[in-house]
Amino acid sequence: MEWNRRDFMVGPIVMAGTAVLGRTDSLLTKLLGDSGPLIQRTLGKTGLTMAVVSMGVMNADIPGLLRRSYELGIRHFDTAAGYQGGRNEEMVGSVIKELGVRPEVIIATKQHMRNRPPNVAEAKRQFMDGVEASLRRLQMDHVEILYYHAVDSVEDARADGPLEALQTLKKQGKTRFIGLSTHKTSEILPEAMRQNIFDVFLVTLNYSMAHDTQMLNIIERAADRGIGIVAMKTQAGGTAKPDAKDRKQLPPISQTALLKWALNHEFVTTAIPGFSTYQHLEQDFSVVRNLAYTVEEKAFLEDKNFFAQAEFCQQCGKCAEDCPMHVDVPSLMRSHMYVVQYRNPALARDTMAGIEGGRGLAGCDGCESCKLSCRNNVQIGRKIAQLRTLARDNFVC
Ligand code: SF4
Ligand code: SF4
Repeated sequence: MEWNRRDFMVGPIVMAGTAVLGRTDSLLTKLLGDSGPLIQRTLGKTGLTMAVVSMGVMNADIPGLLRRSYELGIRHFDTAAGYQGGRNEEMVGSVIKELGVRPEVIIATKQHMRNRPPNVAEAKRQFMDGVEASLRRLQMDHVEILYYHAVDSVEDARADGPLEALQTLKKQGKTRFIGLSTHKTSEILPEAMRQNIFDVFLVTLNYSMAHDTQMLNIIERAADRGIGIVAMKTQAGGTAKPDAKDRKQLPPISQTALLKWALNHEFVTTAIPGFSTYQHLEQDFSVVRNLAYTVEEKAFLEDKNFFAQAEFCQQCGKCAEDCPMHVDVPSLMRSHMYVVQYRNPALARDTMAGIEGGRGLAGCDGCESCKLSCRNNVQIGRKIAQLRTLARDNFVC
């Protein structure tokens, strides 16, 4: 059973108790039967220290989930301008203000650069305007980390407009640190390191990539240079709900096993699992004091079936080389994951809207069946077909 906004009844009682005690952690900790310190790490040269489990807010639409995360000891909250059309930032801002804990928390947000403005000055202006709007929604005068969001091409990683905007915003004190998020680590991180302005990288890291030593080495090299590493998509899309017929279901134990696997890389400071229910919060947070695998978790990681079951698109783009219409298959696979596995249609729509003209789902209209194949066992044709059906229904699934 999943706890949601309607049936979660313990939270208000627990929170009332903590308010009476004037403490945010002790009562809840006792109730949960946890003990011992949270594992904390420092985010590279930023000096920011945080628990290894943070909150990726993107799929959450329950303010109580943020309060509960704070109560448990999470201090790093990750959002973005594009999540839920800005409402995600508004929720973060409201909850932090209501809790009165702004000095204690680390807020990260992200800004896209889309549609390639005609010149550097215009690109810089658009980027800076976008960040000012984020700060208004967050009701904050600055954030701790401002990411250049979803930089998935070398051209974007070199784009002067956003790079200048980020440095100006840092000088103005609107962000303490500059970050970059990407789905194409091996391609983008070397270029981003050459730019020499980034303090933090937000990268996809999960067990389905365990054999990609080139990628792991690149991340480690960045960490060795003092760049803070935050991991996303650590649970390879999560356990699909029973009605998500598209995908075989991973067992619940997979989620803690996968999260521990990512965090057992010392170069990772923290992960931002995108939990959207209280149950998933409890599950993810349960690893924060001890990253040793249980017998069951070890058995799960040793079961090679995972790699077929996960069907995790690593965004390598190899399949797209064979697409006659040059469709942006990696972005479509990501959109599919957002709508089917994350149940976040807004994020899927936003991702599809960011696809360059002519390379979106409409390109598939003339194809009777997709013949592309994936070395990571992603069933591309099935996912494209399902995405087309979902898009026709405006992503109501
Ligand atoms: S579907 Fe497979 S081949 Fe295509 S981008 Fe994803 S991981 Fe690479
Ligand atoms: S359905 Fe056709 S156009 Fe679409 S991704 Fe597959 S091969 Fe490319």
